[in-house]
Amino acid sequence: MSTSYDIVCTDCRESWNPEHGMRRERVMEGLVEMAPQLAALYQSLTTNENFDPDYELSISFQYVDLSFFSKHAGHRLKVIDEYDRARECD
Ligand SMILES: [Zn+2]
Repeated sequence: MSTSYDIVCTDCRESWNPEHGMRRERVMEGLVEMAPQLAALYQSLTTNENFDPDYELSISFQYVDLSFFSKHAGHRLKVIDEYDRARECD
């Protein structure tokens, strides 16, 4: 049995749930640590005319929603597992 992980913004109570489930907690922790850089990358990609707006970034074969990191730049992000997710919903 494997657990999948999400990243939640504890300020906005919004989460990013990878489409196919992310089962590598350390990768998610790494994404949280890189949140400022990911937000900056999103800004660069969306303002650089050399990039198509439909670009996609994958890390460890997982699509990364950079707009989530941009929207929640400077907010408190943390990794939660599917059981935390269930608790947050009640
Ligand atoms: Zn937020």
